[in-house]
Amino acid sequence: MACGTVAAPLMMRIVASSIQIAVRAGRIIRDVMAKGDLGIVEKGKDDLQTEADRSAQRCIVASLTKLFPNVTIIGEEGATDLKVPDDWLISEVNTEFLERNSCPEPLKQIKESDLVIWVDPLDGTGEYTQGFLERVTVLIGIAVNDRAVGGVIHQPYFKDDKGQLGRTIWGVQGIGVGGFTPKQPPADRFIVTTTRSHSNAIVQAALDAISPDDVLKVGGAGYKVLQLLEGNAHAYVFASAGCKKWDTCAPEAVLEAHGGKLTDILGRHYRYNKDVSFPNTSGILGSAKGISHDELLGKLPDSVKQAMNKTQ
Ligand code: AMP
Ligand code: MG
Ligand code: MG
Repeated sequence: MACGTVAAPLMMRIVASSIQIAVRAGRIIRDVMAKGDLGIVEKGKDDLQTEADRSAQRCIVASLTKLFPNVTIIGEEGATDLKVPDDWLISEVNTEFLERNSCPEPLKQIKESDLVIWVDPLDGTGEYTQGFLERVTVLIGIAVNDRAVGGVIHQPYFKDDKGQLGRTIWGVQGIGVGGFTPKQPPADRFIVTTTRSHSNAIVQAALDAISPDDVLKVGGAGYKVLQLLEGNAHAYVFASAGCKKWDTCAPEAVLEAHGGKLTDILGRHYRYNKDVSFPNTSGILGSAKGISHDELLGKLPDSVKQAMNKTQ
């Protein structure tokens, strides 16, 4: 039986709300770009923040906080002013999600205190500032007892056949994925996706060891995982620190809900409870559904694994 809107368990309500909230955040991102003044601040080396990152985070965190006051919410842009314009406060739920899906048994009794929501209001800020707009995503990841269990990935600049802008993909452990049509990557060649702008010698050594037929260098953790889900790549390999928990929580949950896997470069899942440190110090290894994660791990040389073997 599908979950009714009122009676739906907490996990289902959070996903249903996050879908609507991510769509609103995506509109903010487009509006900032359309106005033309990005308000760029340099947070660190190769690490930018724009007005779109700040405003999208305020929309998401203010909306989720109002709806779920006892859930821990951690956003990339830190503590933000939650006094937002009324039309940034989203209280609607995605009724289609609630009507079509049942809550898996293990998630039915989840309480607000069991949850952490990891928010990357704009993943791919570098891509956004450089005009690779289709790679920009809004990421809302839901961790239950420190594992990534649910996620929403919204693409503000995805254009459908009718020219309509924006697409929202979701995944929940035990339900699967929605909002798009997953595809398997080609069987006759092996494609790896990796960073466009944060490479180094170890990142390259890991790629060389996998010896792919093609390397797809695109920005954004969300966008790279979409490449695995849409059949454009078999694996996501990033043997470097740099990504943070908000980059991987939603993508990991969506990929794994579809049968793929996302771990660090040593094959360990990241933990997403509220006390973890933000950096994913031991890199990222993602594999599409049907691709052997263990086989990929086996190809990575010990030198790469040793370099990445930091405490999570
Ligand atoms: P990329 O694959 O390089 O697009 O990175 C995916 C996500 O991780 C983006 O949100 C980046 O900002 C972040 N990231 C990865 N490497 C670094 C780094 N060296 N410094 C800052 N952010 C990074
Ligand atoms: Mg990011
Ligand atoms: Mg970001």
